[in-house]
Amino acid sequence: MTLRLHGRPVPIIGTARIYVCGITPYGTTHLGHAATFVWIDVLARLLRHTGVEVEVCRNITDVDDDMLEHARRQHDDWRMLAARQTYRFEDDMRQLRVGTPTFEPQAHVYVDEVVALAQALLAAGVAYDRNGSVYQRGAAVAERAGLDRDAALALIAAQGGRAEDLRDDPLDAPVWQRSAEGEPSWPSPWGAGRPGWHSECAAMALATLGPGIDVHGGGADLAFPHHAFESAQAEDATGVRPFARSWLHVGTVTVGGEKMAKSTGNLVLVHELLDDAWPPGAIRLLLIDRPWASSWDYREEDLASAAERLDRLWSRAGTPATDPAGEQAAVDALLDDLDVRRALDIAEEAGGHTLRSVGGLLGLF
Ligand code: ZN
Repeated sequence: MTLRLHGRPVPIIGTARIYVCGITPYGTTHLGHAATFVWIDVLARLLRHTGVEVEVCRNITDVDDDMLEHARRQHDDWRMLAARQTYRFEDDMRQLRVGTPTFEPQAHVYVDEVVALAQALLAAGVAYDRNGSVYQRGAAVAERAGLDRDAALALIAAQGGRAEDLRDDPLDAPVWQRSAEGEPSWPSPWGAGRPGWHSECAAMALATLGPGIDVHGGGADLAFPHHAFESAQAEDATGVRPFARSWLHVGTVTVGGEKMAKSTGNLVLVHELLDDAWPPGAIRLLLIDRPWASSWDYREEDLASAAERLDRLWSRAGTPATDPAGEQAAVDALLDDLDVRRALDIAEEAGGHTLRSVGGLLGLF
């Protein structure tokens, strides 16, 4: 059976290339971040289980408006802040049994690639330079994303970032920007500056995985503007379309109906759950025992239920009985839009070796 996402087949010929937007390393990992990376890990494990070679690129956005702002407020060097938070993030991922990605590029290492990308976009006529910055025209990007102007502007405003007064149009996004006072900067044909967020991901994806990728993942809130601008850049620079054959936009995790955010103080941090002695497997099960695209609300009682279900699965996996057809049926369920819930039900019913194998595939045991 071929992998299907959103009900559409995604046949993989040769190596599967998966890119997932990683963290901006200024805060510790919350459950919403973890959900994205655990789902990508499930996809990678599933494909490997079916004999496909997989390359995963999970970037680190260490040069970014929010990153630099946090470093400034904490009177810290952005590199030190990034190194500390990346270490904590990787430790959280290890505990949640997320495999080490093939590539983990840091944005500050890929500045030359962003400069090359900006030059390609200027040559393609989809970007312009103003006073030391290079902007990508956004009207066509919004149109390609199927958004009208007002909806696109509202999403861009919600994403924040610094005001760009020199843009021709508020829909335009910086590919390269002049660094503000005290910010890190690198040389470029337009003067000293730093990369824009969307172009960092486009450059890192192109440099590590090549001009086209099989699956692009990230939180659902990244679909626009981030992913729309990023993929338009990659397509306009390389001529290869589509940049991403399929998307895994993982549903948002809310608390009390609100999106987790530092500003609302409702963050559920992975390391706090681990410190409270919740089993890593239970946290992982809570994240994946549901449709990947759906948003959901975190409640501690659901984590307790996940821990109980994990215990039940453990006991059932210890039984000698097994149904040899069960494992293939469970894998087929996973290939069908990553239906973890159905796969686990099938494996639980089968028990024994089948459940051990499927639980191992999902990183639960
Ligand atoms: Zn990204």
